[in-house]
Amino acid sequence: MKFETDINGRFKCPTCTSSYKQKGHLVRHIKYECGVEPQFMCDICFRRFKHKSNLKAHYGICHKRGGSDSGDECRGVMKMTINLDHFFE
Ligand SMILES: [Zn+2]
Ligand SMILES: [Zn+2]
Repeated sequence: MKFETDINGRFKCPTCTSSYKQKGHLVRHIKYECGVEPQFMCDICFRRFKHKSNLKAHYGICHKRGGSDSGDECRGVMKMTINLDHFFE
């Protein structure tokens, strides 16, 4: 796979404005981020996130709990195979 580079030698994504210093990062971006549905879903409000860290942060901000049941932050990921696309149209 060949990619264009900008004047700084960064590899440019062909479909969006992202660019990366390392080709591998661009490949990862295209594979897992660009044009890909966010894979990590909040099981409380069903918002989706591209990165697990974003989902974690979302939990912390939007669904802050007493802290007694920490450890369920990953539950949204387990449900990612369920097709809920029709909820998002
Ligand atoms: Zn892109
Ligand atoms: Zn949520």
